[in-house]
Amino acid sequence: VVQVAVDAPLRQPLDYLPPPGCVAKDLPLGARVRVPIGRRRAVGVVAAHAPSSVLPLAQLRPVLEVLDAEPLLQPALLSLLLWTADYYHHPVGEVLAAALPRGLRDGAAASALVDRWRLTAAGAAALQAGEPARAPRQRQLLQWLAARAGAVAGEIDAEFGDWRATVRALTARGWIERDTVQTAAPWPQVGPSLADPAIGAAPPLHAGQHAAIDAIDAARYQAFVLHGVTGSGKTEVYLQCAQRALNRGRGVLVLVPEIGLTPQLVARFSARLSAPIAVWHSGLTEGERLAAWRAAREGSVRVVIGTRSAVFAPLADPGLIIVDEEHDASYKQHEGGCRYSARDVAVVRAQQCDTPVVLGSATPAFETLRNIELGRYRVLPLARRPDQAPAPRVALVDLRAHAASGGIATPVLAAVERHLAAGHQALIFINRRGYAPTLLCTACGWIAPCQACDARLTVHRSAALLCCHHCGAEEPLPERCPRCGFRVKPVGQGTERVEETLRGHFPQVGLARLDRDTARRADALKETVRAVMSGEARILVGTQMIAKGHHFPEVTLVAVLNADQGLFATDFRAAERLAQTIVQVAGRAGRERVQGEVLIQTDYPEHPLLHSLLDGGYDTFAATALAERRAAAWPPFGRLALLRASSRSASGALDFLTSARACAPRTDGVRLLGPVAAAMARRAGRHHAHLLLEAHERAPLHRLLDAWLPRIQELPQARRARWALDVDPLGID
Ligand code: ADP
Ligand code: ZN
Repeated sequence: VVQVAVDAPLRQPLDYLPPPGCVAKDLPLGARVRVPIGRRRAVGVVAAHAPSSVLPLAQLRPVLEVLDAEPLLQPALLSLLLWTADYYHHPVGEVLAAALPRGLRDGAAASALVDRWRLTAAGAAALQAGEPARAPRQRQLLQWLAARAGAVAGEIDAEFGDWRATVRALTARGWIERDTVQTAAPWPQVGPSLADPAIGAAPPLHAGQHAAIDAIDAARYQAFVLHGVTGSGKTEVYLQCAQRALNRGRGVLVLVPEIGLTPQLVARFSARLSAPIAVWHSGLTEGERLAAWRAAREGSVRVVIGTRSAVFAPLADPGLIIVDEEHDASYKQHEGGCRYSARDVAVVRAQQCDTPVVLGSATPAFETLRNIELGRYRVLPLARRPDQAPAPRVALVDLRAHAASGGIATPVLAAVERHLAAGHQALIFINRRGYAPTLLCTACGWIAPCQACDARLTVHRSAALLCCHHCGAEEPLPERCPRCGFRVKPVGQGTERVEETLRGHFPQVGLARLDRDTARRADALKETVRAVMSGEARILVGTQMIAKGHHFPEVTLVAVLNADQGLFATDFRAAERLAQTIVQVAGRAGRERVQGEVLIQTDYPEHPLLHSLLDGGYDTFAATALAERRAAAWPPFGRLALLRASSRSASGALDFLTSARACAPRTDGVRLLGPVAAAMARRAGRHHAHLLLEAHERAPLHRLLDAWLPRIQELPQARRARWALDVDPLGID
């Protein structure tokens, strides 16, 4: 029996018989097959062979067609995908399908390399001499090939139908020869496009870098945490370890949070490494994805740099896996499909391939810190570079004690002026795009609401729109209150308004803004980065997009305008996120020779969280915050799974979760909490709710899920709601 995973919401692969005349070994694990499923046919992947089936053999249908003689998915990649489906309790066929480019899911050839035949010199001479006189088919093919540079199988097919025997005969006589060519488009590549002085030359390493590189280079499987502030030289360590892995003939997989935001990292890899590199992200076209996939599998590409889904790139024989900014939330798939964490899957992949994995961060995730404490991961600390300016001075600005203009306190404005006068640049961070988060009628109190969500609409002034940042709804920006007709007024600040305020204060100074609105086009993002690098723009306003990846050497002042948002959020991870954001943004200040200054605006200057962060830095803050997590048995001290549901009706999601809870097998060590409505219950016209599962240990939680999910699937209420399970959720929302 062959077990085939098909792209369907089925928890297990389906059982089939080999096609007539075949045995199981003609259908290797990881090969694609075409199978009947119900009344349709589907392409699936052979996930296992089994001696028998739970169904009577007479009921099994045979596989219709074997698409790959060799496995499409190498054994190591197949077992990684099976592990992922199992750990995240996601239908295995969907996990496999999501890892394949569409073309391969539809049955395209595994390889982009195809055979091509062409005439040899001997063949040309034979043709001249009128040979072969008595084999008209051979002569015909020879003549046809003589008229072109070469032909691939498909072309000969179209012209000659059954031609294999003829080609064999001509090859045997030495009249034609075969080579292989790449048919598909080239894979997506990068060039060293950005003028970064660091590109090209390797600096002499400092002691911490030496120690890190030696440790990583000597290791087989081991998870390393490369812990150092921005500019401490982590990327340099990645580069040198990567080159050593390449020198040993192995491949290198590099994960980054967002390709568009890390052009400098990508450019440095492509400038420094002596191997073909492919980039890999959700913005690739299907053709590019297919080309990258094939190139990685065939070994034409030896380095893959990509975002989350690149963790499943079919890179042949990886010898090093790197996860840059490992704490970044974008590594976790949070909606649609299997909700995996690419960081965690990367560690498993390294384990399965017996290779080192490097998790780099200035602000490691709490899970990662816990794994260091438990001895599972090994920390490699990187101190500031000796030639680097001292750490920036960080100070709080008490919003209650100072006048503010458009959300910017006077000491911050004064600091901007000071740094500009000294010839430097300033970076203003506010975690909210748009002009203002609220549109208010001061007469009747009306607030512009989203029709589909429990949320306010954000004012986007230059586009003259009201936008919902949750469902994407847009309406024209009204001038008067639709309820009472009085004038309406934007309340609060977003990046657009901060930009306007700063323009008012510094009319002569070049200003740039970086957020999802201004970076909609890739060119616009590049242009903004260029303007800041060239000094044309001297103030940069932006969301956390400015905190990632870019190195702006002349920035000496960083101001954080709205830190308070994270201080009182209900999410258990809010404090961790806030500290990470502050440290990341602060890391943009004064990274070269000049000491930087960081100002954090707050209404709560006594808040203990801000103090532990300011006084002791991220590690002290993390120790305090981890103690709180331990007391509350929150992750990383407990394990969570979240069953989320949504429905059009107000009660559908809650009804489903209530029945799901009722059919949960009682399991010692696992607590079920809820169901409750989500914090923002109505989103995009659907009502959201969830049920939380909490456990101290992983094993009982996963045992419960294994027994429970098949029962949930059978519930009649399951058809009236959309639902999804999130193992190790980042947030409970
Ligand atoms: P990170 O990845 O930790 O932010 P990078 O590796 O990008 O740090 O290093 C920051 C800058 O310092 C880069 O311009 C890099 O070329 C340079 N650099 C790295 N290591 C050294 C070193 N040992 N000596 C001098 N400059 C270095
Ligand atoms: Zn909405």
